[in-house]
Amino acid sequence: MDLIVAKFGGTSVGDGSRIKKAAQSVVNEYMKGKQVVVVVSAVNKTTDELIDLSNAAIGETLTDKQKAEIMAMGELTSARLFSATVESLGVKSEYIDPYNPIWPIMTDSNSLEAKIDFATTNEKFSGIQDLLNQGIIPVICGFLGKGPSGEITTLGRGGSDISAFLIGHCLDASDVVIVTDVDGVMSTDPNKIESAELLDEITVEEMRDLATHGAQVLHPHALKYKDPLISAKIINFAHGDLNAKGTRITGPFEGDMTKHISLHKNPISIIAIVGDGMLKKAGLLAKVTSCLAENNINILGILAGQNSMTVFVEKEDSEKAYPILHTLVVEDDVFSSLSLGSDASMITIVSPDFTDETPGIISAITEPLRINNINIIEIASSQTAIVIYVDVKDAKKAYDLLNEVLE
Ligand code: ASP
Ligand code: MG
Repeated sequence: MDLIVAKFGGTSVGDGSRIKKAAQSVVNEYMKGKQVVVVVSAVNKTTDELIDLSNAAIGETLTDKQKAEIMAMGELTSARLFSATVESLGVKSEYIDPYNPIWPIMTDSNSLEAKIDFATTNEKFSGIQDLLNQGIIPVICGFLGKGPSGEITTLGRGGSDISAFLIGHCLDASDVVIVTDVDGVMSTDPNKIESAELLDEITVEEMRDLATHGAQVLHPHALKYKDPLISAKIINFAHGDLNAKGTRITGPFEGDMTKHISLHKNPISIIAIVGDGMLKKAGLLAKVTSCLAENNINILGILAGQNSMTVFVEKEDSEKAYPILHTLVVEDDVFSSLSLGSDASMITIVSPDFTDETPGIISAITEPLRINNINIIEIASSQTAIVIYVDVKDAKKAYDLLNEVLE
């Protein structure tokens, strides 16, 4: 049977008529014979208001635990409101908050940025499943967790997206629908560039990178729990219809989202191009990339800085790339010289955890290499991947050490 997890953001339950419209959209799917689990955020800006109030009343002595308990009132309220509204439409519903014995989402004791204890949580969904089997619509507080001593914790601001995907995963849902106040994911922020377009679909990997770089539409950690088979989408609450078209989130594709480390099978060459004031002149990267592209040479990576640019290509391409780039350097005013370094190996480390644990991750990776006297020729990092270039002779050792780090 189809099981839909529908997450309603604050705006989508922002007033009485919106709550009613949202509840009706859930009931409509239920009437078609589907199971629906609702995950709800606090109404509108309630969380902000609760924080402002406690800061004004208590100020610095407010503890994290107190703050979590106060913030939680937002979702405690909205879940009750939503559930009662579903009942008013003639379908049985139950709100599920952390005080409920069947509450499933367990975390560590960090009150404000609690980390989910996935193994325990995953085992605790039988109570919710029972409700579904009895034809009851569960309405679960988003954003909240339950710590080791039974205390309320929160998953961090915007965390109800995490709740939704986590619940979808644990219940083996067919669909996760994020109901929000935009039409979906845009090609960029429409408030900044007017011609921004709505995307029909986006991959998990792209969405994560967008979210970690500031796109507000989804919490960057939420997709960690997205199963490949779950169909997920972001839609606008204004439709009042869970079947509305928005942006579909596809993937993750095999191996992409799990932690992995790979050693590029062939040796690579590093070509360094130097020049004065490279950052001040436009079009330099394009010159390099287009002259390589014209000659069908694939670029594995590129780093650009103040006085140099480093281009990574397959070693077997370097014999061709080197003289081509030399011609470019001689003809161009800014570039002055280039060198072809000795062979290197490229190790790529991908982990969805980098976004959670960014502080210290680079040193966790580089430290074992330092201790083992392995020189890092270059390192490039993004929110989800780190690429390390080492001497070919060190590659196997480095690869093994990094595998240990990742475990
Ligand atoms: N209500 C919480 C917040 O405003 C969680 C959420 O909306 O996702 O951060
Ligand atoms: Mg949100």
